[in-house]
Amino acid sequence: MQFDDAGATVELVVLREPEAQLEGVIAIHSTALGPAAGGCRFTTYPDFSRCVEDAHRLARGMTFKNAMAGLPLGGGKAVIRRPEGPFDRAALFEAFGHAVGRLKGRYLTAEDVGTTVADMEAVARSTRHVAGLPRASGHPGGDPSPWTARGVFVSMQHAASRVLGKPLSEVSVAIQGVGNVGEALARQLHDAGARLVIADVDSERVAKVAASTGAFVASTADVLKADVDVIAPCALGGAIDHRLLGSVRARIICGGANNQLAERGLGPRLAAAGITYCPDYIANAGGIISVAGEHLGWSAADVAQRVENTADRLAGVLDVAVSLGLSPADAADRLAIEKLKKVGRRPIAA
Ligand code: NAD
Repeated sequence: MQFDDAGATVELVVLREPEAQLEGVIAIHSTALGPAAGGCRFTTYPDFSRCVEDAHRLARGMTFKNAMAGLPLGGGKAVIRRPEGPFDRAALFEAFGHAVGRLKGRYLTAEDVGTTVADMEAVARSTRHVAGLPRASGHPGGDPSPWTARGVFVSMQHAASRVLGKPLSEVSVAIQGVGNVGEALARQLHDAGARLVIADVDSERVAKVAASTGAFVASTADVLKADVDVIAPCALGGAIDHRLLGSVRARIICGGANNQLAERGLGPRLAAAGITYCPDYIANAGGIISVAGEHLGWSAADVAQRVENTADRLAGVLDVAVSLGLSPADAADRLAIEKLKKVGRRPIAA
């Protein structure tokens, strides 16, 4: 199945194998820079069309993220609906692996929300086009989320210094969602001396993270309105919308979630409100850098250096935003589109 995305043709591979209770979609947004790479999301969706919509948006974001991180990878994403009743998890992910294998390397999968290293091991029984597998010493691999958190951390460090003139030890941060990325980010911020406010719909999880980081627990409804310097959306997409805009008290938005802005056009409105938005796909590229390194055979040290360089890439985007009078969100999109146009095979329109 294919449809047009303002100049780019998105390929949708429908996954439907009732025996394995596999239902979902792989979206291949661009292979201009290399195989389409992006994690596999496993969660509940009210219907199949929402699943397709999510896969498409996430795959598009991966095209931009991979291009801006300087990776030889295109953009793709898999989204699988979590079955409602009991199911055989290993069989489901093995069946997914067969579907990935049939694409013969055009799509590379790894973990995302709802999937684990064990799931990727099940996928690896059916295909070699998978990363996020248990790692050998000195090599990249394993759960990419600590790398994602590290990239967000160094981005936040840069933004705090640039916007507030402060080190993170003097900064307060509210984190929405303390799952894999949010928890790792909370720990790093705690170690750096930042004051934390956290929230999660999972009350056990939030209590555990609060106990180990001394964070104040806020309600999920209010966490992004907290009186802090930075808000870090680390749950699902669309956390920032026009209704929230007037209530944001932080001067910086820098988090790990994909597709943080619910609506196009919010970038300039955030900038006009004096809020520096660190584009999500710039700040949260650490995980895909680890995935790329594992797949392409880089050393762990190379991966670590590239993740640290996230701060420089963010600085470059913020500089371009200032010089062109654009919001950071629009500056990042423009730079990514320019990179993709240079390789030319499949330009992506804004
Ligand atoms: P996760 O499922 O481990 O964590 C998400 C957390 O958010 C969970 O604890 C969940 O209970 C919580 N949550 C859900 N809705 C919430 C709400 N309304 N308010 C507060 N908390 C809520 O997922 P993750 O791997 O940590 O990913 C988090 C985000 O980061 C996702 O948007 C994901 O796409 C993005 N991301 C993840 C990676 C990675 O390496 N895992 C890489 C890049 C981007």
